[in-house]
Amino acid sequence: MENEHQYRNYAAPARDSVSAFYEANHRQQSLDFVRGKRAQYLGLNHRTMAPWDALLWMDTLVDDSDPDTNLSQLQHALQTAEAIRKDGHPEWFIVTGLMHDLGKALCLFGEPQWAVVGDTFPVGCAWSPTNVYPEYFASNPDLARPELQTENGIYEPGCGLDQVLMSWGHDEYLYHVLRDHLPLPALYMIRYHSFYPAHRHEAYQHLMNEQDRTMFRHVSEFNPYDLYSKVATPADQKALEPYYRDLLTRHLPAQLRF
Ligand code: FE
Ligand code: FE
Repeated sequence: MENEHQYRNYAAPARDSVSAFYEANHRQQSLDFVRGKRAQYLGLNHRTMAPWDALLWMDTLVDDSDPDTNLSQLQHALQTAEAIRKDGHPEWFIVTGLMHDLGKALCLFGEPQWAVVGDTFPVGCAWSPTNVYPEYFASNPDLARPELQTENGIYEPGCGLDQVLMSWGHDEYLYHVLRDHLPLPALYMIRYHSFYPAHRHEAYQHLMNEQDRTMFRHVSEFNPYDLYSKVATPADQKALEPYYRDLLTRHLPAQLRF
C-alpha cells in the first residue's frame, strides 16, 4: 500500500471539477431533498439484478468526484476486493469490497453524481466544519431553518446513526439493498464508507451510540482498501470472474432488488 498523502489530493487539475461537484452537493443536499430521495428509492422497486450482472452494468460508470482513479467501477470493485483477499480477510469482507460501490447504480437510474457520490454527512443538524468544502453549505436551504442549525438538530443526543438521515448517495442506498444479506460490520462498511467527517475526523460523535463506536472500527478497517487499492494496472477481469461469481453465489441471493 502506498503513502496515503498521494490520495484524496484535490490539487489542480482535478480540484476544479471536485470543487464544482461539492458546490452542487452542499447546495442541494437538504433535509427535504434527502427525505424525497429516500421515498423515491428505498422501496427498491427500480430493477432486479443478479449481483454479478449489477457489477457488469456498473462497468459503464466513472466517478467524477474521485481524483484517484479513471478506471471503471467494476475495476474499482475488483481491485478493492482483491486487496482485501490478499490480506487474508474472511469472505464476507471480500464480498463487501466487491459490492461496496454498487449503490452508484443510482447514476444509471439518471441521478446526477452530486446525489450519488462524494463524502456524506448528516442532514437535519449543524454541519461539521470538518466536512470537505464547508463554505458551500452557505447556499443550502437548511441554513435558513434555525431548528436544523443546532448541534443535534432534529435528533436526540446519542440516538445512534441508524436514526440519523445522511446526505443522499450510494452508501445509504446500497445499505438498504443488502441489509438482510450481510453481517453488521459489512453493513457499516457499506453505509458509512463515504462518511469521512466521522471516520477521518471523528466528527458527529454526539449522535453516535455504543454500537456505532464499536462498528466504526470496521469502517476504518475497510477505508484503506477503498482508497489505496486504486492502481493504474487493471485487475484481470476474465481470470477473476469465476472466483467472484462463486463467492457471490455463496454469500448473496441470486437476485437483488434495487
Ligand atoms: Fe464509495
Ligand atoms: Fe469505493
